[in-house]
Amino acid sequence: MSVNIAIDGPAGAGKSTIAKRLASELGYIYIDTGAMYRAMAYYFLKNGIDSKDEEAIKQSCPKIDITIKHIDGEQVVILNGDNVNGVIRKEEVGKMASATSIYPAVRTKLVELQRQLASQESVIMDGRDIGTVVLPDADVKIYLTASSRTRAQRRFDQLSQKGVECDIEVIEKDIIARDEQDMNRKVSPLRQAEDAVLLDSSNLDIDGVVSAMKDIINDKINK
Ligand code: C5P
Repeated sequence: MSVNIAIDGPAGAGKSTIAKRLASELGYIYIDTGAMYRAMAYYFLKNGIDSKDEEAIKQSCPKIDITIKHIDGEQVVILNGDNVNGVIRKEEVGKMASATSIYPAVRTKLVELQRQLASQESVIMDGRDIGTVVLPDADVKIYLTASSRTRAQRRFDQLSQKGVECDIEVIEKDIIARDEQDMNRKVSPLRQAEDAVLLDSSNLDIDGVVSAMKDIINDKINK
């Protein structure tokens, strides 16, 4: 029997780090849906399509083919035949993804792909609307969040470690703006599903979050 675990939450809450760890420990496939919105955003950027031009975005959707592969446990996103994993993590692409994920044409295409992937095997899927829209019947739903300051601090630490100069105030401002956009859009806004368990990771390290999540999962699945 395949099991579906849905993890939603705002940008920078640690969803992908935690979901990846859990998937490898539980032997599930990890599906990062944000990467799919980023791949579409990358296409729009590369083709000079304005994020406000809904008609142009709608027209270009049929020309975009996104497929997902897993290589050594790592999700690889293929956009029209090319592996785009190396180019979709940039801030510019994340912002474009947030601006263009508001359109039904974009969402319908990706939700269909996400449901198809989840029907094939046991998955841990993370995103913004997994528990509410994509997999409303998921076996376990978790809403993972943390304060905007904590999320900004984590991002600041990551960038500083890589030697990138940055300003925590600017990072926090960007995080708050992204939350605003994701939570207040008309279609599939980010929100906690009624039957999701809330987990605030502000005062937990990675091991602490993984352990809390395992408890939630065991509790739901073995009930
Ligand atoms: O999680 P990540 O930062 O990679 O997601 C990029 C953007 O894609 C989000 O800010 C959000 O607007 C959009 N997204 C979405 N629904 C999902 C996953 C991501 O709208 N399930």
